[in-house]
Amino acid sequence: MSDDFRGRRILVVEDEPHMLDLIRITLEQAGFVVSGATTGREGVERLREEIPDLVLLDLNLPDTTGFEVLREVRNAAPVPVIMLTVQAREEDRVMGLELGADDYIGKPFGHRELVSRIKAVLRRTEMPAPVTRGIVKVDDELEVDLDHRQAIVRGERVHLRPTEFKLLHHFLNQPGRLLTHESLLSRVWGPEYRDDTQILRLYVTYLRKKLERDPAHPRYITNERGLGYRFVDYTNNQGS
Ligand code: CA
Repeated sequence: MSDDFRGRRILVVEDEPHMLDLIRITLEQAGFVVSGATTGREGVERLREEIPDLVLLDLNLPDTTGFEVLREVRNAAPVPVIMLTVQAREEDRVMGLELGADDYIGKPFGHRELVSRIKAVLRRTEMPAPVTRGIVKVDDELEVDLDHRQAIVRGERVHLRPTEFKLLHHFLNQPGRLLTHESLLSRVWGPEYRDDTQILRLYVTYLRKKLERDPAHPRYITNERGLGYRFVDYTNNQGS
């Protein structure tokens, strides 16, 4: 899969001019075409003029809240959104993800983190339809046989219980993506389970014991405290 995102258009909505400049320089160096807006209203106007490939949205804006802008973006176009949030505001991230943001980046962030998060979201957005058949290779130590509903861990076939397989399958189709507890529970177990984080934690533990070399330091399924889980972005290794 091509990882060349040069020329993709990113709309950055950020009210601090210094921060906007820094982001613009970073993204232009990475080959993106950047348009900037310093208010929520301007951001929405830009979006109506031309739909970008991705929106980077600061949640703390002077005129409107980022949430309102997010809602407007969601109404205007199916464009992926990454929120910029202040590190400490966990409830902001939860709300943003519930409103349909694709990911968040906590301030302060590094240049490389910013570029790699954007590329990961673009890669996911452009991914082909969900994989439902055959063998999916995650890395040299882990493959998943979707036809036989088994994991192949360092060459050994590992039996998965139906719910373990369902959860793993869901993770495989959302590589690198932060999946909230609520979304995992309602997609894998059903909407009536959406608050049952206990059962989710239990099944993540089961999967880690079966898949991870060191379940105490997982690399496939990582935890985002208070928010959810993220499956490793393996789409980068799919090339050859
Ligand atoms: Ca701000």
